[in-house]
Amino acid sequence: MNLSFGNIVRNRRGLILSRSLVLMVAIIVFTQMINTVFFASELRGEAQIADSLLTLRFTVVVAIPFVLYMVFLQARADLAVEYFRKLSRTDPLTGLFNRRAFIDLLQEGRVTREGLGDSASLMVLDIDHFKRVNDTYGHEAGDAVLIQMADLFRANLRPDDIIGRLGGEEFAIALNRSSARECWHVAQRLRHEVERHVFRHEDIEMKLTISIGATHVGKDGDLSDAMQEADMLAYKSKREGRNRISYGSDRVDIPFAV
Ligand code: GH3
Ligand code: MG
Ligand code: MG
Repeated sequence: MNLSFGNIVRNRRGLILSRSLVLMVAIIVFTQMINTVFFASELRGEAQIADSLLTLRFTVVVAIPFVLYMVFLQARADLAVEYFRKLSRTDPLTGLFNRRAFIDLLQEGRVTREGLGDSASLMVLDIDHFKRVNDTYGHEAGDAVLIQMADLFRANLRPDDIIGRLGGEEFAIALNRSSARECWHVAQRLRHEVERHVFRHEDIEMKLTISIGATHVGKDGDLSDAMQEADMLAYKSKREGRNRISYGSDRVDIPFAV
């Protein structure tokens, strides 16, 4: 995940160039219009108007570099705002939303209200015995696992699902417009994919599992309550032996064999 300012500028180079191009074309068209009116007024012998137009044209030509410089400064300011916004919302290791951004997105209604106005699902996912990875292979191996875990989640979710790293080895996922049954299937898929994945760092190969707490939120459901519930359910999965899913079971009839 490249969060450098240079990278953001590179990504937006097209935008800056197209802005400048549009401005240049507008200036050229404008000076041509002045020229046309200028010659027409000269032909009609309206010397005063012609003089004013000459001054106007001169002003426009002199103003071009200044205006272009202003466009450049504005573009840089926009990019700086975007850069700091991204930085404050992103977990630098995995490129996922950080805890604050994830909670903000829930509170902004990105999950339920912006969808088809129906419902969403929330999951908290915690890597089992992650400390052992650090203790056995070192912190860098632990970091590599976290990055690969994030990639695995991304690869198994839709682009409009929201993935966050709440901290340490704890992740959260909000599934937009999903039924309780879909949530269950997604949780199953993630648990299974992690279980069969081989995590790698240099020549080390590691096998890991995750414990999941999942819950479904209706249109008028309280998302922070749901978050707390998912968190508690993830701990329930830990207590009951890890590598499993606990679901807010009173709401939906779902098979619990994991
Ligand atoms: P459990 O199965 O109960 O979840 O056990 P666990 O070992 O996964 O959980 P525990 O909370 O005991 O340990 C989490 C570890 O995660 C401890 C901490 O050093 C490590 N950790 C937290 N953030 C990072 C990070 O950014 N990189 C690395 N490499 N390790 C981290
Ligand atoms: Mg853990
Ligand atoms: Mg944990």
